[in-house]
Amino acid sequence: MEKENMDEVTNLISRRGIIIPSFEIYGELAGFYDYGPIGFRIKNKIKQFWRDYFIKSLGNLEVETTIVGYEKVYQASGHIKTFTDPILKCTKCGSTYRADKLLEEIFEKEKKLDLAKSVGHMNITELQRLINEYTVVCPKCKGTFSDITPFNLMMKTDIGPTGGITGYLRPETAQGIFVDFPEIYKTYNFKLPIGIGQEGKVFRNEISPRQMLIRMREFSQMELEYFFNPKNLDKLVINNIEIDETLFDKKLNMLTREDQEKGAEASKISIADAIKNNIIPNKLFAYLLYKESIFLEKLGIDSQIIRYRQLEPDELPHYSKGNIDLEIIINGKYEEVAGNAYRTDFDLKSHSNLSGKEISVLDNNEKITPHVIEVSFGLDRLFWSIITNSIYKDEKRSWGITILSDIIQPYKYSVYPLQKDEKLIKKAIEIYNHLNGEGFEVLYNSSGSIGKRYAKSDEMGIGKSITIDYQTLEDETVTVRDIMDGIQERVKIDEITK
Ligand code: AMP
Repeated sequence: MEKENMDEVTNLISRRGIIIPSFEIYGELAGFYDYGPIGFRIKNKIKQFWRDYFIKSLGNLEVETTIVGYEKVYQASGHIKTFTDPILKCTKCGSTYRADKLLEEIFEKEKKLDLAKSVGHMNITELQRLINEYTVVCPKCKGTFSDITPFNLMMKTDIGPTGGITGYLRPETAQGIFVDFPEIYKTYNFKLPIGIGQEGKVFRNEISPRQMLIRMREFSQMELEYFFNPKNLDKLVINNIEIDETLFDKKLNMLTREDQEKGAEASKISIADAIKNNIIPNKLFAYLLYKESIFLEKLGIDSQIIRYRQLEPDELPHYSKGNIDLEIIINGKYEEVAGNAYRTDFDLKSHSNLSGKEISVLDNNEKITPHVIEVSFGLDRLFWSIITNSIYKDEKRSWGITILSDIIQPYKYSVYPLQKDEKLIKKAIEIYNHLNGEGFEVLYNSSGSIGKRYAKSDEMGIGKSITIDYQTLEDETVTVRDIMDGIQERVKIDEITK
C-alpha cells in the first residue's frame, strides 16, 4: 500500500466529516475547525491515551483550570509584553500577513532556501530590512505595506457587566497549573519530582491561520509540567521507581544546533550521548523525551518521519535552559507537534513576585522553588500528523484506507446485514448488541450497497467489518473483513473477538 497524496487526504477527511470547517453554512472563518463524529472519537482516544500514559502510569496529577484568565496572570508570565508576531498591513486593501511567514513563502518559491530558513530567527528590524530590500508587496492587490509592528496573539475579553476588568482567553494551559501550584502542593503534599498536567482549549489570534489543523485560532493542548529539584537529579526516581538508565541507550533522530549551523540533516543519537553533549539539559528531560518517543510509537507514528530539533539560542526565551521541539513530517514538511522546554523556576518565581505570595516546597528539608520541564503537545497537530500520514491507497480498492493503531481506531468493528432483509437485520442487531454489551465499540449500518459500506469502513479507519448473510442464519457464522487486506474470512459468531 502506498500513502495517499495530500489532496486526496483532505478530500477523504471532509467526505467522511472527520473535520468540518466551523460555521460552514455561513461561510468559513479561517482558523476554526470542528471534529465530526469519527474525528471526535479519534481525537478523544489520543487524549485518553495521553492521560493513561503521561498522567496515570507516572503517578502524576491532572487539573482543569479556567479558560478566561485574569490579566495579572499574563502580566507575570510575560505574555502581555512578548506574546507577539510581526504583522504587515497592506495600505491599499487592508489584508494582513505574518511578516516572517510571508517572506518564508516568497523565498521558498524563489528557491532562496537559506533566506527562507533564516527569517524565522529574525527580529522586526531585520524582517523590515528584507521587505524593503526585496520590495515585497501585497500578494492580493500589489499594494505597499505599512511598517511591521508587533501584534499580540492573545484574545481579550471584558469580565463583568460594567467592564473594567480585562480578561484573556488562555493562550496555553500551563499558566493555570503554575498559579494553582501552591494550593495543589498544600493539599497533596507530594514529593518532587511530580508532574501536573492539563488538557484543554487555548486561543491564539493567529495572523494567518493555515493548513487546516496546523495553525488554528482555537485549539487544544495537552501540557505536562514536571516540577523537580535541579540539585536532586543524580538518581532519577519517578512515582517511587528508580529509572533504569539503560533506557537512555535508545537512539532518537536529532537535529542539533550544530547540524542547523552546518545545514546538515538530523541523525540518530543515543539519549545518553545527547545528555553528555549538552543537547538534552538533564536526566529528567531525557526521560521525558524517551517516554515521548514510545508514546508516538504506540500511536503508530513511523519513527522515520519524526525528528527532535534542538532550538537555537535566538529562539529561546531568556529563562530557558534548553528546548527541544518534536517535529513530524506533515505534507512533506517538518512541523512542530510538541514543545519540550526546560522553563527553570521562571514561572513560579514570576507569579510569586507579582502576587506577593511565597511559592516554595520542602525538598530534603530545604525550602526551594521547584524548576519545571514542560512537555506541551498540540492535540490537533498530533491528530493531524497521525491522520494525514495514515491514509493509503491500494490497487484493489478505489477509495482511501485509513490505517490507525488499535488504540485510536474510532470503532473496532462495524456490523452489516448483507441486505435489507428483516431476518438478516434482526440477526445483525443481535450481534451488534452482543458486541456492544461486551464493551467493544461497534458501528451498525444497514444502508447502501455492501461495497459502499466497506469503502466507508476503510475510509473511517474501522478495523474489522462483520457481515451477516444467509449462511449466518443456517450455521451461526459471519464474514469478517480486515481493513489491512480487504480479505473476508468466515468465522463462528462466538469467535469474532478471538
Ligand atoms: P507553544 O506553546 O507555542 O510551544 O505550542 C505548543 C504546541 O501547541 C505546539 O507544539 C503545537 O503543537 C501547538 N500549537 C501552537 N500553536 C498552534 C496553532 N495556532 N494551531 C494549532 N496548534 C498549535
